[in-house]
Amino acid sequence: MSSIPRQKPIYRFAPSPNGPLHLGHALSAFLNRDMAAAAGGRFLLRIEDIDLARCTPTFEEGVYQTLDWLGLAWETPVRRQSDHLDDYATALRTLYDRGLVYPAFLTRGEVRVRVDEAEARGNLWPRDPDGSPHYPPDDRDRDPKTREKLLASGMRHAWRLDTTRAIAEAGKDLGWSEDGDGETGTILADPAAWGDVVLSRSDAPSSYHLSVVVDDALQGVTHVVRGLDLFHATSIHRLLQRLLNLPEPHYHHHRLILDSDGRKLSKSMGDTGLLELKAAGLSAADIRRLVGL
Ligand code: GLU
Repeated sequence: MSSIPRQKPIYRFAPSPNGPLHLGHALSAFLNRDMAAAAGGRFLLRIEDIDLARCTPTFEEGVYQTLDWLGLAWETPVRRQSDHLDDYATALRTLYDRGLVYPAFLTRGEVRVRVDEAEARGNLWPRDPDGSPHYPPDDRDRDPKTREKLLASGMRHAWRLDTTRAIAEAGKDLGWSEDGDGETGTILADPAAWGDVVLSRSDAPSSYHLSVVVDDALQGVTHVVRGLDLFHATSIHRLLQRLLNLPEPHYHHHRLILDSDGRKLSKSMGDTGLLELKAAGLSAADIRRLVGL
């Protein structure tokens, strides 16, 4: 009897070219490559550039230069999200056809006023795991006629997931298998904690949440290795995967590299920029040591 060929594990490093890569990215990229190599798997690079306003060709070029310098060989062609907006639009349409997304017309300022007013009255407004206030229910509860009228008027809007409805459709037992540096084992997903997340807005045709699950599925990614800052986002990713009938990868959320004040590194902090460290004479081996590998 011939054995069924086992699919090779597929790992990916998926930076957003909206700033120079820093030590935190180096840890993520090394871990993905090392784990792929140890498992006899593949290592992909994906450019997450759907935020068309903040991502630039110069930063994208910096990603290639940095990874090349670090000795991380990736497969080509590289998937660039801005080349695949149709894939995300199709996924959004699927959710729309099932009544799971709605047009959201409130501006950031209007949401802020709503939250401030509620909190001034002593009511606690729910916040997501990143600390942002949940979107108010106004647009979700709108009657279809008013909604059509607003859309026809050309009013700016985003598309948001009706998370409560989505959870009801997705059913119970939503979780994921985790073997990273935080909580491990089977993690129960809690998408309700996020409220009605944005899936697309006028200035960014897809959200991070939507494009990441579509791409991981299209690229056959079996193992998602990324920072612990995205641990809670996995709840929304699992919900979208279930709704869109996409496979469930394994997850590994790794420790973050913190600055001397204990804060997460950000792309605006030049002193930990990898190309600056290269210019200062450090080697790829030095970077491995600096990130604790
Ligand atoms: N593009 C995301 C970032 O740069 C990472 C997404 C992911 O690994 O899922 O933070």
